[in-house]
Amino acid sequence: MSNQTLPLDDRLYHYLVDHSVHEPEVLVALRHETAQHPMAQMQIAPEQGQLMALLVQLLGVTKALEVGVFTGYSALRVVLAMPPEGKLVACDVSEEYTAIARRYWEQAGVAHKIDLRIAPATETLNQLIQADETNSFDFAFIDADKSGYPTYYEQALQLVRPGGLIVLDNVLWSGQVADPAVQDNRTNTLRRLNEAIHHDNRVVASLVPIADGLTLAMKKRC
Ligand code: CA
Repeated sequence: MSNQTLPLDDRLYHYLVDHSVHEPEVLVALRHETAQHPMAQMQIAPEQGQLMALLVQLLGVTKALEVGVFTGYSALRVVLAMPPEGKLVACDVSEEYTAIARRYWEQAGVAHKIDLRIAPATETLNQLIQADETNSFDFAFIDADKSGYPTYYEQALQLVRPGGLIVLDNVLWSGQVADPAVQDNRTNTLRRLNEAIHHDNRVVASLVPIADGLTLAMKKRC
């Protein structure tokens, strides 16, 4: 036994997936189609999707935000975990990737719950802020260009309600954030943001070592 997070070899990882993930057929199909895509590594891990779906239900999320849609797996996970009146505003810049997303959202019968905005996310988030939607979202998932993370985080912090949750993907960045030899811009941006969130007294946060690292940051209630 260890009081440190276990390293996962393949056998233990597959055990974890087998004993954690419940995926509706439509999500399995979307995951399999995306696995053939040249940018397949941009899709979230199924065990991560399971955790996010649990968090969405735990929080009673009815209004959610996503920055970075890709082929729509995480968005579909989130909306399937929301009640019928739930709505997700989804931001992406790619018509090509999100065409796949739309197809699966239709197939799952939840396309009407997703408001897809094709534009730079900072613009969409600013529009929401200008439209007085601050403090109104229950949940925000950030999984897009890493250089934009600090801005997306600040904008999401305005848009999420007190007690709402911001989830940031890829915060361990294949372990590179802990390797001082790696000094590229994206790694340094993630490093600075991890440091900033750790000391951000506007949130209560936990960096969860699932998939490529997932930060959960709850906006404080007061
Ligand atoms: Ca990601």
